[in-house]
Amino acid sequence: MATPIITDGTMERVISAPRVVLPDTVGLFAERASRFLQLANGHPMADYLKLMAAVSQAQHDVIGAREAPVVPDEALERSRDYGMPPLTALSHARDPQWRDDLRDLLAQVEGHGVPAQAMVKAVRALDDISTEALADRLLAGSTLDTDAAAVPLVGAALQTYFTRLAASINVDLVKNFDVHTVCPVCAMRPVASVVRLGGERNNLRYLCCSLCSCEWNMARIKCSACEDDKTVHYLSLQAGGDDSEPASNTVGIAAARRAEACDECKSYLKIFYQEKDPSVDPVADDLASLALDVLVDERGFGRSGPNLLFHPGSA
Ligand SMILES: [Zn+2]
Ligand SMILES: [Zn+2]
Repeated sequence: MATPIITDGTMERVISAPRVVLPDTVGLFAERASRFLQLANGHPMADYLKLMAAVSQAQHDVIGAREAPVVPDEALERSRDYGMPPLTALSHARDPQWRDDLRDLLAQVEGHGVPAQAMVKAVRALDDISTEALADRLLAGSTLDTDAAAVPLVGAALQTYFTRLAASINVDLVKNFDVHTVCPVCAMRPVASVVRLGGERNNLRYLCCSLCSCEWNMARIKCSACEDDKTVHYLSLQAGGDDSEPASNTVGIAAARRAEACDECKSYLKIFYQEKDPSVDPVADDLASLALDVLVDERGFGRSGPNLLFHPGSA
């Protein structure tokens, strides 16, 4: 009997799956808060992860409290006519609304008691000009060690504001953006990528924006920084798990998280597999696996995208 040709419809799905997915402002931050709490259970950095759960919960409460400001016509035209991301983070004139978001986040997180005090105090010490300057440094990837305590809340406020704005634009404007290594909405680098489970995105890899929470599709087994597909390989915290993709030879939570490292540009970014753990979240799972960053850094790879809730070197 002839062996039937098995097709799982992958090609058809790639064609019909959305290239860009704008953020869901209703569930995103609340689900992240739950994930942080779940990951805190028995984790050596449990207090820190619980604090980040409180920050995410505050983002959830604050994002729905305001309407997104209107995106200027010129930005929409540049996007339509020249394919520029409409909310390019480094040139976008931030509405002062983001500092109202920051103030509300502070008030909420303050209720979390002692662990939150250093963060809240660091932000309260900044006037508006210094706050804007810190935001510029954070978006440019040039924060200073002295900024470390203020970074999580300033990063969270910027995420809240840009996520609200990103959700307000028309996806048709950005779905054909032809640069794959930065966010089509705000031009920031991704925090991580997630291989999705279920629906039309099943088994497809999406890069997750570190700032506006937008997701965009990129082929698997390809460097998300330089698009090299020859030297990319996978590192995980379990012995023997540094080779083929997906992580079939590892079990438990370590199997759901790998670092995708590239010999061509010597960079890496984490990739999370929903098939191994349906609840993975690009931001929460990233902060709960800093040991993986240490392992990959030691092998000479530099991280290619930021986590805006974290100043590198402050763990
Ligand atoms: Zn973005
Ligand atoms: Zn590369």
